[in-house]
Amino acid sequence: MGGREADAAEFAGAFPTLDEVQLTQLRPFGAETEVARGEVLIREGELGADCVVVLTGELEAVAHYGATGDPVSTPFKPGQFVGVMNLLSGEGAYVTVTASADSRVLRIPLARLRDVMGQDVTLSEIVLRAFLLRHSLLMRLGTGPKVIGSRYKLKTREILELLARNRITVTWLDVESNPGAEQILRGFGFTVDDTPVVLVAGQPILRNPSLAEVAAVFGITPSSSKSADSYDLIVVGAGPGGLAAAVYGGSEGLSTLVIESVAVGGQAGTSSRIENYLGFPAGLSGQELAARAALQAQKFAAAILVGCVAQSLSSADGLQAVGLTDGRTLSGRAVVVATGARYRRLSVPRLRDFEGSGVYYSATEVEASACSHGVAVVGGGNSAGQAAIFLARKGLHVDLLIRGPSLESSMSRYLIDEISKEPAITVRYAAQVVELIGSDRLAGIALETRAGGRAEIDASGLFSFIGAEPNSDWLGAGIERDPDGFILTGPDVASPGSLPLETSRPAVFAVGDVRHGSIKRVATAVGEGAMAVRLVHERLLR
Ligand SMILES: Cc1cc2nc3c(=O)[nH]c(=O)nc-3n(C[C@H](O)[C@H](O)[C@H](O)COP(=O)(O)OP(=O)(O)OC[C@H]3O[C@@H](n4cnc5c(N)ncnc54)[C@H](O)[C@@H]3O)c2cc1C
Repeated sequence: MGGREADAAEFAGAFPTLDEVQLTQLRPFGAETEVARGEVLIREGELGADCVVVLTGELEAVAHYGATGDPVSTPFKPGQFVGVMNLLSGEGAYVTVTASADSRVLRIPLARLRDVMGQDVTLSEIVLRAFLLRHSLLMRLGTGPKVIGSRYKLKTREILELLARNRITVTWLDVESNPGAEQILRGFGFTVDDTPVVLVAGQPILRNPSLAEVAAVFGITPSSSKSADSYDLIVVGAGPGGLAAAVYGGSEGLSTLVIESVAVGGQAGTSSRIENYLGFPAGLSGQELAARAALQAQKFAAAILVGCVAQSLSSADGLQAVGLTDGRTLSGRAVVVATGARYRRLSVPRLRDFEGSGVYYSATEVEASACSHGVAVVGGGNSAGQAAIFLARKGLHVDLLIRGPSLESSMSRYLIDEISKEPAITVRYAAQVVELIGSDRLAGIALETRAGGRAEIDASGLFSFIGAEPNSDWLGAGIERDPDGFILTGPDVASPGSLPLETSRPAVFAVGDVRHGSIKRVATAVGEGAMAVRLVHERLLR
């Protein structure tokens, strides 16, 4: 499919028209009302807005696009519905929706929309696909809330990552390159020292906020998830392993809470395309998988707290206590540790200076949009291969740097084939990064080859995918681990009678990449998450 045809197909998928049968299926979930021309149905910033379906007439959704904030409207005709991904999280609306003609509409409240998506596979596909495609269109256009900050400040990049990973569309005004940014700051009486500043319609302005404050203002953690202190099952980490445990825990009647520090989806959520997950022959993006899994977990009443970091685990009187960095302690009869792994850092001088302003550990729209011309991807595994292909398709030239003499032993065949067909990717074998070039922003890298040669390449981004280390430090000394920090389970632990996947502490299980001996794949993490719930039942019955 050519670029224009692909764009047209994406646009059609983003704004589908429901047929009469589908509208009839939807009717019981909402309330039909007449609206007069000019009447406002949703205001920008409104929390928990309804999903609105046009039955007759026409609606207009006005959003503010681009750095200038110019309003642009999208007409919605009969059979079309208004909403983007943020609607499902209960976040403030990005658009003001007005009737541009006398109309009849179906208003579906958020909870009922979730019911529709839980009950009807076809409608769920159409709605989720439209919301995700609209999200990516809006990302490209730049709309909704704004983050004003410097690309050189780590906090700016952390906020942008938190929002991007949670599929929240924002316009980023970089004070380094956008003269309008400083003007807006002055308008509020702020200076560059107050940045990053986060502007969300209908919410207090945030100056240099913590990630938890940003998560709260965007409604990333649903309010329904904030109440109880005690659960049957606490799952730490919302990657594929944790989400699977949540789906199975919730569906099997355990009161289940998931604690997640950054965003649902974990490492898989940063993957541009997962091609080898069972049941998706055309592949799917990690964000899509994460969105579907989170929805499914919530359908089974599992609560998900995002923006919360677990920092300790202790047990007393048959209960496990998980301490959070915000001071709270949550208790559960059983715990599934699914905290996964994070990428290793390259051993090269000044690495930390460029992290977030040239050195990245994931390749999503946000990182790609911060780069120009050439980038380098380091690593010979599947994640490096996926990143290289994704970045090349974003119009960047990619130098793929690997230490070994070939990709065959470390990368899947389908990726090797795609890379060989991609003219924008140059593979450099037996190459090692020895120097990062640039004053305050990465401008290039120096390489050394095994033969002793040195080369310099222009690179506005260095994407590092060189193996993982486990997120297990927070557990303290109480849980047995191997010398690399991966958690021992089942027959590997010293305590007799441990169940499979059970750690050295009874009723504490470990699944997915954080576990010693795990196969680092989405499917295996999901399988272990599901299996752990069965074993939790067995432990609690003993
Ligand atoms: C770019 C990329 C592409 C990939 N592509 C594929 C692929 O195509 N196919 C495939 O099978 N596999 C792929 N993988 C591997 C796959 O994503 C992982 O094996 C899988 O995500 C592991 O799942 P997990 O649930 O064990 O952990 P993770 O996905 O690592 O999730 C762990 C979660 O725990 C959270 N967390 C960590 N510490 C804490 C804490 N203290 N408190 C609260 N939360 C915490 C993290 O924020 C994270 O969200 C890819 C990985 C990457 C990075």
